Amino acid sequence: MKEQLQTLEKEAIEKVNGTTNLKEIQEVQVTYLGRKGSITEVLRGMGKLSKEERPVIGELANKVRTTIQSAIDKKKEKLEQEELEKQLLKETIDVTLPGRPVNFGGKHILTSIIEEIEDLFIGLGYEVREGPEVETDYFNFEALNLPKGHPARDMQDSFYITNELLLRTHTSPVQARTMRTLDGNEPIRMICPGKVYRRDNDDATHSHQFTQIEGLYVDRNVRMSDLKGTLNLFAKKLFGEDREIRFRPSFFPFTEPSVEMDISCKVCSGKGCSVCKQTGWIEILGSGMVHPKVLEMAGYDPEVYTGFAFGMGPDRIAMLKYGIDDIRRFYTDDVRFLKQFHEA
Ligand SMILES: [Zn+2]
Repeated sequence: MKEQLQTLEKEAIEKVNGTTNLKEIQEVQVTYLGRKGSITEVLRGMGKLSKEERPVIGELANKVRTTIQSAIDKKKEKLEQEELEKQLLKETIDVTLPGRPVNFGGKHILTSIIEEIEDLFIGLGYEVREGPEVETDYFNFEALNLPKGHPARDMQDSFYITNELLLRTHTSPVQARTMRTLDGNEPIRMICPGKVYRRDNDDATHSHQFTQIEGLYVDRNVRMSDLKGTLNLFAKKLFGEDREIRFRPSFFPFTEPSVEMDISCKVCSGKGCSVCKQTGWIEILGSGMVHPKVLEMAGYDPEVYTGFAFGMGPDRIAMLKYGIDDIRRFYTDDVRFLKQFHEA
């Protein structure tokens, strides 16, 4: 029995030394020291021993048990340490690895164009004004010299909410509202950018929703030459110093006289090409001297005050500036299209 125990001890220590992970060491523990383990098995035979032998074997068995247990404990500790180190190594952050790219959003191309135009006019002393997109018939039409039944209303059919409420067809009501707030005795220099709506069938150059920027300058002694000077500066800043401008007579119900402004075609330098429809010129905006009736309705004395107004479409300007072929691209949210302008 003594030899059996010594062999078991030797065997167990060898097994312990041979283990490479915590699971194996657990198995060794069960095999030798468990309730059904080898040592217990041997000790079951104690009954057959003489009275003298029993304590000797008992002591030896305890010694063997302790030796094996301490060997297991030592090895266990070592393995645990190793596993911790392995774990730590695995979780180490490599600070030299390149970071994961973060996707940043960017401004919509129309927002960029609007902000560019705003900056330009703010530099000339204008302020930016905004107004409601759901507008009354009065501010959208009547206050702008477009009484009910006026034929010019046909060109601006809109989406009506009630007979008196509609989605605004232009940003001009913001001008009317601003003039109203000033009691007819303060000069005005304002631009109003925003979304407008018309009941158009969508195609490459028409959209039921688009953007406008209008401007208004009202003061004593504002003349047509002020209009020309301001818009000339605007065109050159936005499209390039080498561009020429020209004015053509036109008609708008809220201005008199009314003009349309063209800029010389950049593609052909005025010789004529498909972009400018062989004319050498590209239409950019409409403007004119504020109609005396519009001033009067807003509380300004047309004998004292004069002014000019202009309106343009940032959609069209962006299309011209960047060679965009379809207005619907601005509103269909195709990221591949929008992304191209993040650095623009
Ligand atoms: Zn051209």
